[in-house]
Amino acid sequence: MSTAAARPTTITAPFLDGLVRRVPGSTGNTWKLTEVYTGDLLVELPQSSEGDIAQAFVDARAAQQVWASWPLKKRLKVIKKFHALVIKNQLLITDLIQVESGKNRRMAFEESCDVPMGTSHYIKRAPSLLKDRRHAGPVPVLSHSTEVRRPKGVVAIIAPWNFPFATGISDTIPALIPGNGVVLKPDNKTALSPLFGVHLLEQAGMPRGLVQVICGEGPDVGGPMLAQADYVMFTGSTATGRIIGELAGKHLIDCCLELGGKNPMLVLEDANVDEAVHAALFGGFGNSGQICMHIERLYVHDSIYDEFRDKFVAATKAMNIGATYDFEPDIGSLVSVDHRDRVIAHVEDAKAKGATVLTGGQARPDLGPAFFEPTILEGVTGEMLAGSTETFGPVVGLYSFSTEDEAIALANDTDYGLNASVWSTDLKRATTVARRIDSGNVNINDILATAYASKGTPSGGLKQSGVGARHGDQGLLKYTDAQNIGVLKKQVMEPQANQTYDAYAKQTQLSLRLMRRTRLR
Ligand code: NAD
Repeated sequence: MSTAAARPTTITAPFLDGLVRRVPGSTGNTWKLTEVYTGDLLVELPQSSEGDIAQAFVDARAAQQVWASWPLKKRLKVIKKFHALVIKNQLLITDLIQVESGKNRRMAFEESCDVPMGTSHYIKRAPSLLKDRRHAGPVPVLSHSTEVRRPKGVVAIIAPWNFPFATGISDTIPALIPGNGVVLKPDNKTALSPLFGVHLLEQAGMPRGLVQVICGEGPDVGGPMLAQADYVMFTGSTATGRIIGELAGKHLIDCCLELGGKNPMLVLEDANVDEAVHAALFGGFGNSGQICMHIERLYVHDSIYDEFRDKFVAATKAMNIGATYDFEPDIGSLVSVDHRDRVIAHVEDAKAKGATVLTGGQARPDLGPAFFEPTILEGVTGEMLAGSTETFGPVVGLYSFSTEDEAIALANDTDYGLNASVWSTDLKRATTVARRIDSGNVNINDILATAYASKGTPSGGLKQSGVGARHGDQGLLKYTDAQNIGVLKKQVMEPQANQTYDAYAKQTQLSLRLMRRTRLR
């Protein structure tokens, strides 16, 4: 018997019908989008056919012509208004994220903060990034070149279910600012909050149709989308990322792939144990372990291992798991019963191969169909699913180490390289360790937020965790092409009248030497 609390009163049938009406679905096929805490139907989500997808690109391309013709200042005015609208509607966005994903309310609220943070960064940074840049030409005085930033055209954005609003909308904003259109494909399970984000963009004054939302099962829509797109921004699993990368190669378009992780946390012997234990609760179990940057491997120095383990197990047992739409629960549900079964399979496989469950390990149907307890395992090995592949659930393997070199080797013993967390009271030492970890993000004395929320710094994965990055200058410039306009005032890069090529070659060599010596070029 589920103890789920009543659904937020904002989530009414007319409101949801209004949101999904935006999705083209000419064949009449729909997908049943359900409330995670109860399994009850929320709305029938239209599924887009190949023809619908082609039309979405045509419509986005038409609106993009208008949008790109606006001066940057006019586009940014819309984005500023959108920023204010997100904050004004933040609790409604939180409601939408929660009903569709089943995450606890604190996490849903924090997810909604990502959009204004990233948007605010690019409002500030875009004018400088997008302005024309003049560079020296090959011939001093007589030539120069101008670097012009042009929008790619229409960008395909494919988003996962674990942070639907953050990945769907936060990645859309830096695509829009330089003048692109967007065709966004959220996961079927979590299409509501991205659809509301697009509604807010239109309310802010964005031309209608500039951002299209299409829905469908990934393998059905990926091919048609990439056949039309000028760039693809993909967030999801490494397996799907490989397929998207192949399609991008086939169509000769650029891509950014933000993929999975198997992220380590290293607790060195001089760490503050209580702070590290407290952080590990979020690291392992935040968003029910469904954060790409969350911790699945926790390495603790053997001198403090027993203390850390006992405190971590006690604190995990005390966590408040619940299906309520208030800020009380520490963690909520997994996203679906299918995903819960994947997590169970990882835990059962680990148990069968000799791992010990220190706490958790059970589904919680008494709370809702997809709930699973926060789980700590000891004795996990590389032969176990939970030891080598991403579980993407509230399951942490606890290990000890005796030297710094050993800890770094263990952290790097993975195909992934998305995030790592290093704990020490000696920041210099922690930074030295961080630099030796093969990971796109490393957080010192934090799990993930410090690196991820530093919007000025690129954030992406190494190894099998991705290609490219979001955030930072490249997080906006990747949605542009650089056009190089060269100007030559007088033709001097060839022999002049009556000059032999021998003489011209000598003169050219002299110029090359001089330009180096004088540092002119
Ligand atoms: P997924 O790869 O199954 O799906 C991601 C998205 O791709 C969904 O919208 C899905 O419908 C779509 N998709 C699936 N197959 C497709 C295909 N052939 N063509 C086009 N689209 C297709 O991943 P998921 O299970 O939804 O998300 C969880 C994964 O995402 C985890 O591995 C997690 O680590 C990763 N993730 C990474 C980041 C990051 O920034 N690195 C952020 C969030 C999630």
